[in-house]
Amino acid sequence: MSVAELPRVAGKLTADAPLAPLVWFKSGGQAQWLFEPKDLEDLQSFLRNLDPATPVMALGLGSNMIVRDGGVPGVVVRLGKAFARVSPVDATTLDCGGGASGILVSSTARDAGIAGLEFLRSIPGTVGGFVRMNGGAYGGEVKDILVDCDVVLRDGQLARLNVDDLHYSYRHSELPDGAIVVSARFRGKPGEPSAIQAEMDRISESREASQPLRSKTGGSTFKNPDGHKAWQLVDEAGCRGLQIGGAQVSEKHTNFLINTGDASSADIEALGEEVRRRVKAKSGIDLQWEIQRVGDVK
Ligand SMILES: Cc1cc2nc3c(=O)[nH]c(=O)nc-3n(C[C@H](O)[C@H](O)[C@H](O)COP(=O)(O)OP(=O)(O)OC[C@H]3O[C@@H](n4cnc5c(N)ncnc54)[C@H](O)[C@@H]3O)c2cc1C
Repeated sequence: MSVAELPRVAGKLTADAPLAPLVWFKSGGQAQWLFEPKDLEDLQSFLRNLDPATPVMALGLGSNMIVRDGGVPGVVVRLGKAFARVSPVDATTLDCGGGASGILVSSTARDAGIAGLEFLRSIPGTVGGFVRMNGGAYGGEVKDILVDCDVVLRDGQLARLNVDDLHYSYRHSELPDGAIVVSARFRGKPGEPSAIQAEMDRISESREASQPLRSKTGGSTFKNPDGHKAWQLVDEAGCRGLQIGGAQVSEKHTNFLINTGDASSADIEALGEEVRRRVKAKSGIDLQWEIQRVGDVK
């Protein structure tokens, strides 16, 4: 697919764009095309005019993603500044761009005296990723704060989805394939900015103590099975520190995999599969991947 075969854009379209620098694991192949739309209209007209057979995938901060070494076919959409604004709509609700970070959302909520969104402070990612993944931590989950979101569907249409339309479950939504979340309304409750800040500080400190935050990682690798903690099952199966190539099970938090330097995505995925095999053998439980694995094997 040459650039001449793609719709014209106002934003940036890059062929064979390396994705490793854009994801937390710092591994993996290229996007056949990386599209950074200038604004909503640019995104809509691009998708409206793109061959419907071309796959489209959104990328946030790549904090929950393994991009396989063969790269991602079709178009990867990354939302930039035009989609990163956050502003209050009323006393308890924020309007958040799909590309805004959890840090920006939670600090804007604090300044506006909106409590209940503090947990987003600790989840690295964008509003689009949170909505898609039902991101959650410290007792909070996106499904509890989301009012509705605007998405650009694969055919370029703009649609508003209510929280119920997403049929949320643990770290899962039924967001339509190829849909890009461009904004979301999050609602909390009235709170004191100083108390909100104190809660954000408490969450940050607790994170720092328990997770390898400065590592090349993808966050929690496996979903917690009902009645179990994934990290504990991994630990009990003897996988703490287990290594394949440059990939390692974190010593600090056993549900985190780490790229120790030069891991390929194949190393990381193989390590995850080996952990699943050992946990199954030890406890009989089938761990399910939470991390999104995308693209082609090399
Ligand atoms: C150190 C660390 C700690 C973490 N802790 C937590 C935690 O406590 N709780 C938790 O829930 N998660 C946690 N995560 C995982 C991750 O931060 C979340 O899943 C987050 O929601 C991913 O956001 P993202 O924007 O980076 O999405 P990406 O990782 O880029 O993508 C994840 C999925 O969301 C989709 N997506 C991204 N943007 C959009 C968009 N605009 N529209 C539609 N779909 C989109 C992607 O296509 C993909 O399917 C952690 C990760 C790390 C690295």
